[in-house]
Amino acid sequence: MIKLSNIEKVYQTSNIETLALNNINIDIKKGEFVSIMGPSGCGKSTLLNIMGLLDEPSTGTIAIDNKPVEKFTDKDLAYLRNQKIGFIFQSFHLINDLSILDNVEIPLLYRASTNKSRREAAKEALEKVGLSNRMKHFPNQLSGGQKQRVAIARAIVGNPEIILADEPTGNLDSAMGNEILNILLQLNAAGSTIVMVTHDENMAKKTHRLIRLFDGSQVS
Ligand code: ADP
Ligand code: ADP
Repeated sequence: MIKLSNIEKVYQTSNIETLALNNINIDIKKGEFVSIMGPSGCGKSTLLNIMGLLDEPSTGTIAIDNKPVEKFTDKDLAYLRNQKIGFIFQSFHLINDLSILDNVEIPLLYRASTNKSRREAAKEALEKVGLSNRMKHFPNQLSGGQKQRVAIARAIVGNPEIILADEPTGNLDSAMGNEILNILLQLNAAGSTIVMVTHDENMAKKTHRLIRLFDGSQVS
């Protein structure tokens, strides 16, 4: 589904060059739940951003469903980012002056859909994460675990095939973290392909496969 071949990423800031990823080869299959672990600064976020087509590698190729990304038009790429891939971040990234329901609708605003169908889809996504009773609340009225559930609802509202989660439980206590992991496991069982960065070995054990990074390289 997402295949990375010989990926290298170099960040160039003024006179400093950082090799953030070094010869990465990863093939994520449809329906897999893969975790990525490794110490701070080893390239996990960079890798996830490249998988999500938010950032470009310095060298190497990415193929989505066997088609090299360089063969996609800008319009195709925008479509992929918006419809095929859902992102979840450690710090939620919710908009504080929009209601929960409005936050969840955001990814659908780029689509040619009616207000009513957007609303229905957002309600359905909130039901899946158990937050139907918080639709009219605002983000700062929710606990951390609830905010992350809103972020998951926003990530899944457009039925993406792939969910990329960058330390989704990093800001949560272990009980709430487990709740979030259980939601991700349910989404995976229902067919979503998931790649999750985590610092938690126990969570990684519950996924199908673990990729370890060290200093930009894959060590397992
Ligand atoms: P992780 O997510 O594992 O903590 P990152 O992917 O964020 O690691 O970073 C990998 C390396 O690349 C680090 O050395 C970091 O300092 C560097 N880096 C990340 N983003 C940038 C950037 N925008 N500009 C320059 N260096 C960066
Ligand atoms: P948790 O035990 O999951 O961390 P909290 O103790 O933070 O949850 O919140 C308990 C309930 O109170 C939550 O359902 C949340 O929606 C509500 N709540 C928390 N903070 C606020 C707030 N500032 N204003 C309104 N409701 C809040």
